[in-house]
Amino acid sequence: ERVTASGSEPEERAIEAALRPKNLHDFVGQQRVRGQLSLVLEAARIRERTADHVLLSGPPGLGKTTLAMIIAGEMNAPLRISSGPAIQHAGDLAAILSSLTEGEVLFLDEIHRMSRPAEEMLYMAMEDFRVDIVVGKGAGATAIPLALPPFTLVGATTRAGLLPGPLRDRFGFTGHLEFYSTDELELVLRRSAMLMDMRVSSAAFAEIASRSRGTPRISNRLLRRVRDWALVHGTEQIDARAASAALDMYEVDARGLDRLDRSVLHALCTKFGGGPVGLSTLAIAVGEETETVETVAEPFLVREGLLGRTPRGRIAMPAAWEHLGLAMPADAIF
Ligand code: ADP
Repeated sequence: ERVTASGSEPEERAIEAALRPKNLHDFVGQQRVRGQLSLVLEAARIRERTADHVLLSGPPGLGKTTLAMIIAGEMNAPLRISSGPAIQHAGDLAAILSSLTEGEVLFLDEIHRMSRPAEEMLYMAMEDFRVDIVVGKGAGATAIPLALPPFTLVGATTRAGLLPGPLRDRFGFTGHLEFYSTDELELVLRRSAMLMDMRVSSAAFAEIASRSRGTPRISNRLLRRVRDWALVHGTEQIDARAASAALDMYEVDARGLDRLDRSVLHALCTKFGGGPVGLSTLAIAVGEETETVETVAEPFLVREGLLGRTPRGRIAMPAAWEHLGLAMPADAIF
């Protein structure tokens, strides 16, 4: 099994749901977004109105879905979940919007992947709480206006830049989620270990946190792998050695890089002499979609100082060569 931010077998997902913080107080880190969001929600409560539409952006596994659930919880409102790829026709969106109840929170994951006609319908729904349902075709087509109850849209995207301006502008609040520090991930892990009734030493928490790629979802995944390992080895108290022995079995390296991260760096260094190389060429070289490389691997590699973005393309930083154990050519650009 591959341990990535996007794995999703049913059992893993059930665990993930059980470990989700239920309120802003239990939500670790992201101080700024948390503070701003709590203000938005408090203001809505005082005005007795639905909260402004919220856009959350950031790499996978940083807590966007969790925050949407928390928003609904704090507003005491029901939550409806859908996603951009599931909405291919304006009719799909009309069906969802027309069945919303007053105050409901609608979470649209991967909102940048909605079709254009659906997007245009969403503009009007967000702004005026109204949609035009088109019946008939060609010259005989008529638009029947339909009023919607006020609702709060929470949109999530891996990168706010992927959204068309008019859509971005219709959100009252945009929160950008950052990668977590290892201290914050340790807090996530402590809470999860408690919920899973595991005994783990501080050094073991630190070891798992440092391999978590700045991502709480990965922390929780790795903790589960460590739990499996401990179960099989009859280890009751998990120390740092047990944790690293367990984690060495998966494709996460000491710096938290997973297979995709490493293959991007490896291609960059070995096939393109360290760059600069265009993102789409790099994506083809690793057999991934450009968007995956750009939104899943790249943000972390940039933050780690392993990859650089230049106007002429992506380049491997000296630390990348070092991490892969490769000699940096004298003419490498960085
Ligand atoms: P996203 O929607 O951004 O991909 P999720 O909201 O699904 O990410 O979060 C993935 C998992 O990580 C959840 O199961 C949740 O338990 C955990 N998680 C995310 N953010 C936090 C946080 N700030 N504090 C504690 N756990 C978190």
